[in-house]
Order: sequence, then structure tokens, then C-alpha cells
Amino acid sequence: MSGKNKRGMLIILSGPSGSGKDTILTQLAKRDIGVQLSVSLTTRAPREWEIDGFHYYFVSKQTFMEKIHNDEVLEYAKYGENFYGTPSAPVDRWLDEGKTVILKIEVQGAEKIRARYPDVVSLFLMPPSMEVLEQRLRNRESDSEEDIVRRMTIAREEIARSEEYDYIVVNDVVDYAVSDICAIIQAERLRSTRMKYKVSEVLDHA
Ligand code: 5GP
Repeated sequence: MSGKNKRGMLIILSGPSGSGKDTILTQLAKRDIGVQLSVSLTTRAPREWEIDGFHYYFVSKQTFMEKIHNDEVLEYAKYGENFYGTPSAPVDRWLDEGKTVILKIEVQGAEKIRARYPDVVSLFLMPPSMEVLEQRLRNRESDSEEDIVRRMTIAREEIARSEEYDYIVVNDVVDYAVSDICAIIQAERLRSTRMKYKVSEVLDHA
């Protein structure tokens, strides 16, 4: 039997703005379970604490459009007034290397990725309530009132589509949400369709 290489696993993490995706991902990185976070392109202006090349690649609209035109973007979406997109080259390379790759993207992007990668695992991070979500957006103190209202409207639309996801993780206590996500990742890694490489390995060396 020919040996099959271990293919990586693609994970989508969606959730309304303010649901705590960044906090969760920072904590997840500390658990050291071997996940690779994709860095997106955006035309949005950086927030005070954001680092170019780490949180996002901050680009002009013209550069963004050029990358789409040159087919360098896996998916993209307009969110509010800005564009966001996933650079394709790193994601494809990591998957070829057998890594677990997380895309932190909104619902339209998630839909496009599902169509392109049917075995993607999708997670929706749910705030405990709309009140908590609004409070978190206000505590951030970086967005204008208009922006907060717009993000709350988009949040309602996103939550209404949360059942399109494989898993819904409630982010009330960060540690619990991170543990839930770790459990999902570990279980999905052992799904028999992803263990085919091991089956060939064992049989080839029997
Ligand atoms: P924020 O401005 O709060 O950083 O992001 C706004 C929304 O865009 C969030 O829901 C975030 O997950 C999403 N987003 C970030 N990067 C991408 C991307 O590359 N593609 C898509 N479709 N959405 C993204």
C-alpha cells in the first residue's frame, strides 16, 4: 500500500467582533497544541496596539485589489467599510506540511472556505449575551459610536448564521472556552478520515 502523507487541518474561527477571538487565540497559543494562525490582509486602519505583520497586514485598497486580481487571496469579504482577506500561499504551504491552521474570519469568508475545503472544521465563538458583547466593544475604547452600532448590527446577523458551523463555543470564561477549543481540535485530529496516513504507515510496516 502506498504511504499517504499527513495532510494538515484547516480550522475556521468566526464570531462577532468583541466575542473575544483574539484573547482566545492568544491563550490557545500558550497551550502549545501546535496551531498556526493565518495573518490576514486588511484595508482597515490599525488599532493602537496592533502590529503590522502580526495582527494583520495593513494594506491600501489598491494593494488589496491587486492581490485579489493576482489570485493571491484564498477568500475575502467586505466587513463594514473595510476589506479583509486570507493570503493563500502560507495556508497552502502549512497544510502541505501537515500543520493545523486557524483562520480567524467572518461568516461570508467562512462560507467561501467551506466550498473550497469541504473538510474544514468550523467553530463559532458565541458571546454569553448581546449585553456582554456591547460592553466588550465599548471597553475596547478604540471604535467610534457609529462603528460600535454597525458592529452590533453585523453581530446579530452573524449569530443568526451560527448554526452553519460545526461547533458553537460560548466565550463566558476564557479558560473554559479555550479548553473547549483544544478538545475539539484534538478530537478532530483523530477523525478516521484524517488518520488514513497512519493506517497506511502501520500496514506498510507490518
Ligand atoms: P476586526 O476589524 O474586528 O479586526 O475584524 C472584523 C471582522 O473581520 C472579524 O469578524 C474578523 O474575524 C474578520 N476577518 C479578519 N480577517 C479576515 C479575513 O482574512 N477574511 C475574512 N473573511 N474575514 C476576516
